[in-house]
Amino acid sequence: MAKITEHFTYEEVVFSQTASRYDIDNTPSEQELEKCTIFAQRILEPVRAHFGKHISPSSWFRSQALNEAIGGSESSQHCKGEACDFEVSGVSNKDVVKWIYDHLSFDQIILEFHDEKDPNSGWIHCSYRQGHNRMQCLRSYRDKNSRVHYVVLDLSNHIVESRNDEDEDSASISKDSNDEYLAKDNIFVRIINAIVALFNK
Ligand SMILES: [Zn+2]
Repeated sequence: MAKITEHFTYEEVVFSQTASRYDIDNTPSEQELEKCTIFAQRILEPVRAHFGKHISPSSWFRSQALNEAIGGSESSQHCKGEACDFEVSGVSNKDVVKWIYDHLSFDQIILEFHDEKDPNSGWIHCSYRQGHNRMQCLRSYRDKNSRVHYVVLDLSNHIVESRNDEDEDSASISKDSNDEYLAKDNIFVRIINAIVALFNK
């Protein structure tokens, strides 16, 4: 087992049942592997250290061929080595998401298909980009017609509002200034509304 960080291995980065089954090459480039290593350093190792539990990555790096084979999104961050799906043994997926939200810098975190009644249901998708982290927190669910939806995750004790994927301003917000930014944003919106109301009188 070739280690990429203290607790994570190259084998975990490239592991895929689909790739094995259909003999799909899932070898990352040097640059992609470096991003996977950074992900392990910035997200997985701190999460492991905090909870003191084993982490099992279920889907990490995906070559274009593998991503197509499993029907992944074209812009999937898994293909760049920026994203990983995982769970922490014995810890509710939502609690893991909350801890990451409070303590780490990340690009996007999705609580995937989690049922509040079952703490172990679903999994966590998390991505990390160097220098351009959006701190976007979502959850996914299926409607009655099995259509998948992504909505902003409502974390109690946090002001979480809809953020635009492509918004470069919100992309550069650091973790520390994040809540403050949202507070300012609210005040700004209130002022604009007040001015509009004044003109409408
Ligand atoms: Zn994922």
